[in-house]
Amino acid sequence: MKIQELQAASDKQLEKFKEAYGLDGRELALAINTKLGEEFGELSDQLLGFYKLQRHDKLDQYSTEELEKELFDTLFTVFGVASATGLDLTEICKKRSKFILERKLRE
Ligand SMILES: [Mg+2]
Repeated sequence: MKIQELQAASDKQLEKFKEAYGLDGRELALAINTKLGEEFGELSDQLLGFYKLQRHDKLDQYSTEELEKELFDTLFTVFGVASATGLDLTEICKKRSKFILERKLRE
């Protein structure tokens, strides 16, 4: 799957979300950013479980599959933040990865 395909899927999901809740662009961006916080919390919960740092009676709720799911949910929601703000994550990845790779070469 390409970044553009994920961005398109995110755009489609956000359009439905925008209509369902009657949000304008700014409200949508703030709502999806709040959703990112929720997903990051779920990822953190799974990561703690993955390393058995949760209560022992809860450990059967955690699995590698659930960790992968929450990692993806978090990534996909980042696409939502980009979509809601009108930013192109493909271009951002190109610019930022170039910067990061060049910096790594200098170090
Ligand atoms: Mg989730």
